[in-house]
Amino acid sequence: MDTDRPLVKLRGVRKSFGAALVLTGIDLDVRRGEVVVVIGPSGSGKSTLCRCINRLETADEGVIEIDGKALPREGKELARLRADVGMVFQSFNLFAHKTVRENVMLGPVRVRGLSREEARERADRLLARVGVGDHGDKFPAQLSGGQQQRVAIARALAMEPEVLLFDEPTSALDPEMIHEVLDVMTGLAAEGMTMIVVTHEMGFAREAADRVVFMADGGIAETAAPETFFADPKTARAQEFLARVL
Ligand code: ADP
Ligand code: MG
Repeated sequence: MDTDRPLVKLRGVRKSFGAALVLTGIDLDVRRGEVVVVIGPSGSGKSTLCRCINRLETADEGVIEIDGKALPREGKELARLRADVGMVFQSFNLFAHKTVRENVMLGPVRVRGLSREEARERADRLLARVGVGDHGDKFPAQLSGGQQQRVAIARALAMEPEVLLFDEPTSALDPEMIHEVLDVMTGLAAEGMTMIVVTHEMGFAREAADRVVFMADGGIAETAAPETFFADPKTARAQEFLARVL
Protein backbone atom coordinates (compact mmCIF):
# COMPACT_ATOMS: atom_id res chain seq x y z
CA MET A 1 0.00 0.00 0.00
CA ASP A 2 1.16 3.50 -0.81
CA THR A 3 1.09 5.04 2.65
CA ASP A 4 2.33 8.45 1.49
CA ARG A 5 -0.62 8.98 -0.79
CA PRO A 6 -3.31 11.16 0.78
CA LEU A 7 -6.66 9.45 1.26
CA VAL A 8 -8.46 12.63 0.19
CA LYS A 9 -6.73 14.91 -2.28
CA LEU A 10 -8.11 18.19 -3.62
CA ARG A 11 -6.34 20.38 -6.14
CA GLY A 12 -7.63 23.65 -7.49
CA VAL A 13 -11.26 22.92 -6.65
CA ARG A 14 -13.47 25.77 -7.82
CA LYS A 15 -17.23 26.09 -7.62
CA SER A 16 -19.61 28.88 -8.57
CA PHE A 17 -23.33 29.28 -8.11
CA GLY A 18 -24.37 31.62 -10.88
CA ALA A 19 -22.10 34.64 -10.69
CA ALA A 20 -20.96 33.85 -7.14
CA LEU A 21 -17.58 32.16 -6.85
CA VAL A 22 -18.03 30.04 -3.72
CA LEU A 23 -14.85 27.91 -3.77
CA THR A 24 -11.90 29.80 -5.19
CA GLY A 25 -9.41 26.99 -5.70
CA ILE A 26 -9.08 24.60 -2.80
CA ASP A 27 -5.94 22.49 -2.30
CA LEU A 28 -6.19 20.01 0.56
CA ASP A 29 -4.66 16.65 1.46
CA VAL A 30 -6.08 14.47 4.20
CA ARG A 31 -4.03 11.50 5.30
CA ARG A 32 -5.50 8.18 6.35
CA GLY A 33 -6.50 8.39 10.00
CA GLU A 34 -6.25 12.15 10.11
CA VAL A 35 -8.95 14.36 11.70
CA VAL A 36 -9.28 17.72 9.96
CA VAL A 37 -11.59 20.28 11.54
CA VAL A 38 -12.85 22.97 9.17
CA ILE A 39 -13.94 26.25 10.74
CA GLY A 40 -14.81 29.65 9.40
CA PRO A 41 -17.55 32.23 9.13
CA SER A 42 -20.98 31.49 7.74
CA GLY A 43 -20.96 31.61 3.95
CA SER A 44 -17.26 30.88 3.61
CA GLY A 45 -17.90 27.70 1.60
CA LYS A 46 -17.54 24.95 4.22
CA SER A 47 -20.72 23.08 3.29
CA THR A 48 -20.06 23.45 -0.41
CA LEU A 49 -16.62 21.97 0.11
CA CYS A 50 -18.11 18.92 1.88
CA ARG A 51 -20.78 18.56 -0.78
CA CYS A 52 -18.21 18.66 -3.56
CA ILE A 53 -16.08 16.01 -1.84
CA ASN A 54 -18.91 13.49 -1.90
CA ARG A 55 -20.42 14.76 -5.14
CA LEU A 56 -23.68 16.15 -3.89
CA GLU A 57 -22.35 19.10 -5.88
CA THR A 58 -20.08 18.88 -8.89
CA ALA A 59 -17.00 21.08 -8.78
CA ASP A 60 -16.56 23.27 -11.85
CA GLU A 61 -12.81 22.81 -11.94
CA GLY A 62 -10.08 20.92 -10.17
CA VAL A 63 -9.32 17.43 -8.96
CA ILE A 64 -10.98 15.48 -6.14
CA GLU A 65 -9.53 12.04 -5.46
CA ILE A 66 -10.41 9.49 -2.82
CA ASP A 67 -7.58 7.00 -2.29
CA GLY A 68 -6.08 7.92 -5.64
CA LYS A 69 -9.32 7.54 -7.56
CA ALA A 70 -11.04 10.52 -9.13
CA LEU A 71 -14.74 10.71 -8.43
CA PRO A 72 -16.64 9.67 -11.54
CA ARG A 73 -19.37 11.96 -12.77
CA GLU A 74 -22.32 9.57 -12.50
CA GLY A 75 -23.65 6.01 -12.53
CA LYS A 76 -23.03 2.89 -10.44
CA GLU A 77 -19.36 3.67 -10.02
CA LEU A 78 -20.28 7.01 -8.47
CA ALA A 79 -22.71 5.34 -6.05
CA ARG A 80 -19.95 2.97 -4.92
CA LEU A 81 -17.29 5.63 -4.57
CA ARG A 82 -19.71 8.01 -2.87
CA ALA A 83 -20.35 5.23 -0.37
CA ASP A 84 -16.64 5.43 0.50
CA VAL A 85 -17.31 9.00 1.66
CA GLY A 86 -19.84 8.98 4.48
CA MET A 87 -21.59 12.19 5.38
CA VAL A 88 -23.41 13.34 8.49
CA PHE A 89 -25.53 16.47 8.13
CA GLN A 90 -26.75 19.13 10.52
CA SER A 91 -30.34 17.97 9.97
CA PHE A 92 -30.13 14.25 10.58
CA ASN A 93 -31.89 13.30 7.33
CA LEU A 94 -33.21 9.97 8.59
CA PHE A 95 -36.10 8.35 6.75
CA ALA A 96 -39.07 9.20 8.98
CA HIS A 97 -41.25 6.27 7.89
CA LYS A 98 -38.57 3.64 8.47
CA THR A 99 -37.41 2.27 11.79
CA VAL A 100 -34.04 3.23 13.18
CA ARG A 101 -32.69 -0.23 12.31
CA GLU A 102 -34.05 -0.04 8.73
CA ASN A 103 -32.42 3.36 8.32
CA VAL A 104 -29.04 1.79 9.06
CA MET A 105 -29.66 -1.37 7.00
CA LEU A 106 -30.76 0.36 3.80
CA GLY A 107 -27.41 1.43 2.34
CA PRO A 108 -25.54 -1.79 3.07
CA VAL A 109 -28.30 -3.84 1.38
CA ARG A 110 -28.78 -1.56 -1.63
CA VAL A 111 -25.26 -0.33 -2.33
CA ARG A 112 -22.94 -2.83 -0.63
CA GLY A 113 -24.97 -5.93 -1.50
CA LEU A 114 -25.26 -7.35 2.03
CA SER A 115 -28.04 -9.81 2.82
CA ARG A 116 -30.74 -8.46 5.13
CA GLU A 117 -29.43 -10.79 7.84
CA GLU A 118 -25.89 -9.42 7.53
CA ALA A 119 -27.15 -5.85 7.36
CA ARG A 120 -29.30 -6.36 10.46
CA GLU A 121 -26.35 -7.70 12.45
CA ARG A 122 -24.20 -4.80 11.34
CA ALA A 123 -26.93 -2.28 12.14
CA ASP A 124 -27.50 -3.63 15.64
CA ARG A 125 -23.76 -3.72 16.35
CA LEU A 126 -23.34 -0.10 15.22
CA LEU A 127 -26.46 1.16 17.01
CA ALA A 128 -25.07 -0.36 20.21
CA ARG A 129 -21.71 1.24 19.55
CA VAL A 130 -23.20 4.74 19.34
CA GLY A 131 -25.31 4.11 22.44
CA VAL A 132 -28.79 3.63 20.96
CA GLY A 133 -28.85 -0.17 20.87
CA ASP A 134 -32.24 -0.29 22.58
CA HIS A 135 -34.00 1.86 19.98
CA GLY A 136 -33.72 -0.14 16.75
CA ASP A 137 -37.45 -0.82 16.48
CA LYS A 138 -38.49 2.81 17.03
CA PHE A 139 -39.08 5.48 14.44
CA PRO A 140 -36.73 8.49 14.30
CA ALA A 141 -39.32 10.92 15.69
CA GLN A 142 -39.49 8.86 18.88
CA LEU A 143 -35.83 9.65 19.60
CA SER A 144 -34.20 12.83 20.88
CA GLY A 145 -32.16 14.94 18.48
CA GLY A 146 -28.91 13.67 19.96
CA GLN A 147 -30.06 10.08 19.57
CA GLN A 148 -31.16 10.71 15.98
CA GLN A 149 -27.79 12.21 15.13
CA ARG A 150 -26.06 9.15 16.60
CA VAL A 151 -28.27 6.96 14.42
CA ALA A 152 -27.16 9.06 11.44
CA ILE A 153 -23.54 8.37 12.41
CA ALA A 154 -24.29 4.63 12.67
CA ARG A 155 -25.93 4.78 9.26
CA ALA A 156 -22.84 6.40 7.77
CA LEU A 157 -20.54 3.86 9.46
CA ALA A 158 -22.63 0.96 8.15
CA MET A 159 -21.29 1.67 4.66
CA GLU A 160 -17.75 1.18 5.98
CA PRO A 161 -16.60 4.47 4.47
CA GLU A 162 -12.95 5.37 3.97
CA VAL A 163 -13.63 8.87 5.24
CA LEU A 164 -16.46 10.51 7.16
CA LEU A 165 -17.56 14.10 6.55
CA PHE A 166 -19.50 15.92 9.25
CA ASP A 167 -21.22 19.20 8.36
CA GLU A 168 -22.08 20.99 11.62
CA PRO A 169 -23.40 17.77 13.18
CA THR A 170 -24.31 19.42 16.50
CA SER A 171 -25.66 22.78 15.31
CA ALA A 172 -29.31 21.67 15.38
CA LEU A 173 -29.06 20.11 18.84
CA ASP A 174 -30.05 21.38 22.24
CA PRO A 175 -26.93 22.13 24.30
CA GLU A 176 -27.34 19.15 26.61
CA MET A 177 -27.26 16.76 23.63
CA ILE A 178 -24.19 18.17 21.94
CA HIS A 179 -21.69 16.31 24.08
CA GLU A 180 -23.23 12.87 23.47
CA VAL A 181 -22.67 13.34 19.72
CA LEU A 182 -19.20 14.82 20.15
CA ASP A 183 -18.27 11.89 22.43
CA VAL A 184 -19.12 9.42 19.65
CA MET A 185 -17.07 11.47 17.18
CA THR A 186 -14.13 11.68 19.57
CA GLY A 187 -14.29 7.89 19.93
CA LEU A 188 -14.21 7.41 16.16
CA ALA A 189 -11.25 9.78 15.89
CA ALA A 190 -9.38 7.81 18.56
CA GLU A 191 -10.06 4.59 16.66
CA GLY A 192 -8.32 6.00 13.59
CA MET A 193 -11.28 7.02 11.44
CA THR A 194 -10.37 9.58 8.79
CA MET A 195 -12.65 12.55 9.37
CA ILE A 196 -13.34 16.00 7.96
CA VAL A 197 -15.46 17.88 10.47
CA VAL A 198 -17.10 21.27 9.95
CA THR A 199 -18.01 22.54 13.39
CA HIS A 200 -18.25 25.57 15.64
CA GLU A 201 -17.34 23.43 18.65
CA MET A 202 -13.88 24.77 19.36
CA GLY A 203 -13.40 22.37 22.27
CA PHE A 204 -13.76 19.46 19.87
CA ALA A 205 -11.33 21.12 17.45
CA ARG A 206 -8.74 21.53 20.19
CA GLU A 207 -9.10 18.00 21.49
CA ALA A 208 -9.74 15.85 18.44
CA ALA A 209 -8.25 17.67 15.46
CA ASP A 210 -4.88 16.81 14.02
CA ARG A 211 -5.21 19.92 11.90
CA VAL A 212 -7.48 22.95 11.74
CA VAL A 213 -8.41 24.39 8.36
CA PHE A 214 -9.74 27.95 8.52
CA MET A 215 -11.87 29.00 5.56
CA ALA A 216 -12.77 32.54 4.55
CA ASP A 217 -14.29 33.86 1.32
CA GLY A 218 -14.26 30.49 -0.42
CA GLY A 219 -10.62 29.70 0.21
CA ILE A 220 -8.39 28.14 2.84
CA ALA A 221 -6.98 31.16 4.65
CA GLU A 222 -4.94 29.23 7.16
CA THR A 223 -4.15 25.66 8.17
CA ALA A 224 -2.29 24.63 11.31
CA ALA A 225 -2.18 22.23 14.22
CA PRO A 226 -4.92 23.23 16.69
CA GLU A 227 -2.50 24.26 19.45
CA THR A 228 -0.76 26.60 17.00
CA PHE A 229 -3.94 27.89 15.39
CA PHE A 230 -5.76 28.78 18.60
CA ALA A 231 -2.72 30.25 20.34
CA ASP A 232 -1.32 32.14 17.39
CA PRO A 233 -3.63 32.62 14.39
CA LYS A 234 -1.66 34.20 11.57
CA THR A 235 -4.31 35.92 9.46
CA ALA A 236 -6.47 38.89 10.45
CA ARG A 237 -9.56 36.94 9.34
CA ALA A 238 -8.80 34.09 11.72
CA GLN A 239 -7.99 36.48 14.55
CA GLU A 240 -11.34 38.26 14.09
CA PHE A 241 -13.21 34.97 13.86
CA LEU A 242 -11.64 33.57 17.02
CA ALA A 243 -12.25 36.80 18.91
CA ARG A 244 -15.96 36.33 18.18
CA VAL A 245 -16.32 32.60 18.92
CA LEU A 246 -13.96 32.03 21.84
P1 ADP B 1 -20.86 27.73 4.85
O1 ADP B 1 -21.20 26.28 4.96
O2 ADP B 1 -19.43 28.03 5.15
O3 ADP B 1 -21.79 28.61 5.65
P2 ADP B 1 -21.84 27.44 2.15
O4 ADP B 1 -20.92 26.50 1.46
O5 ADP B 1 -23.15 26.90 2.61
O6 ADP B 1 -21.06 28.18 3.32
O7 ADP B 1 -22.17 28.67 1.21
C1 ADP B 1 -21.17 29.43 0.58
C2 ADP B 1 -21.83 30.44 -0.32
O8 ADP B 1 -22.46 29.76 -1.40
C3 ADP B 1 -22.93 31.26 0.35
O9 ADP B 1 -22.85 32.57 -0.15
C4 ADP B 1 -24.20 30.58 -0.09
O10 ADP B 1 -25.25 31.49 -0.15
C5 ADP B 1 -23.83 30.08 -1.48
N1 ADP B 1 -24.55 28.84 -1.85
C6 ADP B 1 -24.43 27.64 -1.25
N2 ADP B 1 -25.20 26.72 -1.86
C7 ADP B 1 -25.84 27.36 -2.88
C8 ADP B 1 -26.76 26.96 -3.90
N3 ADP B 1 -27.18 25.69 -3.99
N4 ADP B 1 -27.17 27.89 -4.76
C9 ADP B 1 -26.73 29.16 -4.70
N5 ADP B 1 -25.86 29.60 -3.78
C10 ADP B 1 -25.40 28.72 -2.88
MG1 MG C 1 -22.57 25.27 6.13
